[in-house]
Amino acid sequence: MQLYNSATHQKEEFIPHVPGKVSMYTCGPTVYHFAHIGNLRTYMMEDVLEKYLRYAGYDVTRVMNITDVGHLSSDADEGEDKMLKGARREKKTVMEIAKFYTDAFFADCEKLNIKTPDIVQPATGCIDEYIHLIETLIEKDYAYEAGGNIYFDTAKLEKYYIFNDFKEEDLDVGVREGVEADGNKRNKADFVLWFTKSKFDDQELKWPSPWGVGYPGWHIECSGISMKYLGEYLDIHCGGIDNAFPHHTNEIAQSEAYIGHPWCKYWVHVLHLNTTGGKMSKSKGEFLTVSLLEEKGYDPMVYRFFCLQSHYRKSLVFSWENMDNAAVAYNKLIARIAALDPTKGEVDEAAAATLKDGFVKALDNDLNTSLAVTAIYDVLKAKVSDATKLAVLADFDTVLSVGLLDRAAALRDKLAAEKAAAEAAKKAAEEASAEAARAAAAADPFVAEILAAIDARKAAKKEKNFAEADRIRDELAARGVTLIDTPQGTTYKIN
Ligand SMILES: [Zn+2]
Repeated sequence: MQLYNSATHQKEEFIPHVPGKVSMYTCGPTVYHFAHIGNLRTYMMEDVLEKYLRYAGYDVTRVMNITDVGHLSSDADEGEDKMLKGARREKKTVMEIAKFYTDAFFADCEKLNIKTPDIVQPATGCIDEYIHLIETLIEKDYAYEAGGNIYFDTAKLEKYYIFNDFKEEDLDVGVREGVEADGNKRNKADFVLWFTKSKFDDQELKWPSPWGVGYPGWHIECSGISMKYLGEYLDIHCGGIDNAFPHHTNEIAQSEAYIGHPWCKYWVHVLHLNTTGGKMSKSKGEFLTVSLLEEKGYDPMVYRFFCLQSHYRKSLVFSWENMDNAAVAYNKLIARIAALDPTKGEVDEAAAATLKDGFVKALDNDLNTSLAVTAIYDVLKAKVSDATKLAVLADFDTVLSVGLLDRAAALRDKLAAEKAAAEAAKKAAEEASAEAARAAAAADPFVAEILAAIDARKAAKKEKNFAEADRIRDELAARGVTLIDTPQGTTYKIN
């Protein structure tokens, strides 16, 4: 598989450190608010990557952190703790906020068919690991204490900017965010490993450390959690492109300073989801969540389908119009799959393998999901049995997870139920109109007389009084009424 590596700025053949096994780390959410659908695009594409690696036969272990402490409102250690901000906003404790939004995050993931990583680790659960890391960094002279906090000294590195060449002015995040720059830093790019001199008197979560009671910086948690579960060699680290700097840059700095050799080989970054007004964020414009999509009547699968139609390394523009177009395309696709008959024909394994080639080729090429979606249509167009098509689509959906078969089965059931209901209604209407006709006829005195005569004739026959039965028939005949005996009973015809 060819994968674009942000660290080398090129597509590379993916070769894991241990053959057949993949260690994969994903930066998780900061659980102070709902995730917006732009963040969820990143998790969705990472989900496709993980599932495709499994599809390709790798034994994948994926770890994700949950940031429940230390992530300040600017990524460069400025501003206030996001968790504290969330707790104050909702008048709850930080841990209540963390629990609520962690659950909300995974509920959204489930709606979008995003698999939960093998290991999910809240940042507050690995304090000892961070302390050990920071102690080692101080011993190796990569970290220093200033103003009560512990900082990483970026001047000690040969190369700090891994992903891009940043200008020093880009580091004036504090100024941009309206908060004061940290005067304790020796270099502008230095970052906090441990906050001891808390910036906030009401910081709820604090732990004892060799440097006093405090809490970890945001960046150290991902290095600590990743190395705890995945060791010193990481195959793939992924996240949103806005994590590349400073977060991932700092992760690399501290991890490699700690272990003394290269740490992660492949860096995969998912581009932004933009609105027509620019980059999507929680603070700007309409706060787009999965719940909002549902409130507006969109199946979350339509959003997943929409995202898969473009490449993860391209910015994607979200608009309601784009969602409508995706919904039309998705519903048409599901209707075509629903029209396939699983009982038609046998699965042709050779034909199935040929159809899978296009899909594999697409995803082997730096996870080209839009071509993988095209492969779905190729299957539908192929001259193979319905059973073969359904088997191949089921196979594709283990990676794409857009509900191809279950949404189609649901549609098939819905259409069958609607057809049965329509037939029952038609039958009921026919019966009602026949009954009405009978009632109307019975109300006619002449018809009532005929019906009474038919009953009398039936009674006479039962008593074997055939003479009387014949007399009744003849009398009716004389009045222009012919009786017709059928196995279901006697009917009449007025001549
Ligand atoms: Zn991270």
